[in-house]
Amino acid sequence: MTTERIIEIKLLISDELPATVHGAAVKTRDGKYLMIINGNDTRGQQEKTAAHEWGHIYRGDHDRTDASADQIEAEAHRQSL
Ligand SMILES: [Zn+2]
Repeated sequence: MTTERIIEIKLLISDELPATVHGAAVKTRDGKYLMIINGNDTRGQQEKTAAHEWGHIYRGDHDRTDASADQIEAEAHRQSL
């Protein structure tokens, strides 16, 4: 049996973010995602940030209720994301 899952992500590359923020992803009410990447970062940093945020989305971190945001972030970084 094949299982398919479609994940819709809008990607916003913004030069409005502070230098201390590389990016973020949020799940919207309709179950889609908005990923924001700091357009002032280097291309390499933007790709790294996008991969990190994609990891959160793919693992379903936005739906977790078993851990705090800080704990989830620490897990993501331990997994080198
Ligand atoms: Zn993260």
